[in-house]
Amino acid sequence: MPPFSLPDPVGLLLPVVRVGVPPPVYPAGMARVLPSTLSPSKVSAFKDCALAFRFSVIDRLPEPPSPAAVKGTLVHRALEQLYCAAPEGRTRAAALAALGAAFDHARRHDGEYAQLALQGEAEERFRDDAERLVHGYFEMEDPTTIRPIGIELLLEAELDGVRVRGIIDRLELDAQGELVVTDYKTGRAPAPRHEQGRFGGVHFYAFLCEAMLGRRPARVQLLYLGDGVTIVATPSEQSVRGLERRVGAVWQAVERACAADDFRPHPGPLCDWCAFQAHCPAYGGDPAPLPYAPTVTAGV
Ligand code: SF4
Repeated sequence: MPPFSLPDPVGLLLPVVRVGVPPPVYPAGMARVLPSTLSPSKVSAFKDCALAFRFSVIDRLPEPPSPAAVKGTLVHRALEQLYCAAPEGRTRAAALAALGAAFDHARRHDGEYAQLALQGEAEERFRDDAERLVHGYFEMEDPTTIRPIGIELLLEAELDGVRVRGIIDRLELDAQGELVVTDYKTGRAPAPRHEQGRFGGVHFYAFLCEAMLGRRPARVQLLYLGDGVTIVATPSEQSVRGLERRVGAVWQAVERACAADDFRPHPGPLCDWCAFQAHCPAYGGDPAPLPYAPTVTAGV
């Protein structure tokens, strides 16, 4: 197979490119507004707990930011900036400087960072943790050897009538000219017996690359910066078709839930971190009140 070349008019995807499709028109007659898109996080949210999915994705109830998520965003920004530089400029010092700039910006302008109310030693620990993740990245690979063609790349495609989308942290070419997707993870690496559970997003990325760029990636790798663990998956025709079937089944379940306004709670370990316990019948709450009148679905 010849090396991958970018199709016209995509061109060079660095530093940030949005590749998308027009929004599909969804059916009318839903008791609740259908979500306009599905992403890896929405698919797993619906599978984890349909009611929490409703609160978050459809009702858009506010959720307090978590320190881990805000820290992850800052580290991703630093690595994004790192790859905007030419190879010789991708140094550890440059990445730490980019992280410092991301912090300064967050402290002045980011409402989520402000909500964390970090001060004194707590803020220092938070910042040290983020720097440790950046150092961890440099222990895992040499960024001067990477050939990126897309950073923070938003890809969208239509699948069985639903728009699916995902943001790829880094898309690159390997020595053979094949596509490689890299996803930075700032949380803990899963135990080996749970690795398969993290591959839903991997196959999602493979599907999006194939749909939008006409080529399935040779490799999708998850870099767990805190643990120095890399999990590599090799997408296949079978795994991508399996992803299509699973996403199609989830979308049909979402449609049925929206049509009947039937989103059931699924109590489990994730409840400990759920921001919606006060609205959840499993915790004595009332999920019924709507913040708005039900309407026909919108396509955007
Ligand atoms: S508390 Fe648990 S069961 Fe209730 S909405 Fe949240 S995740 Fe679902």
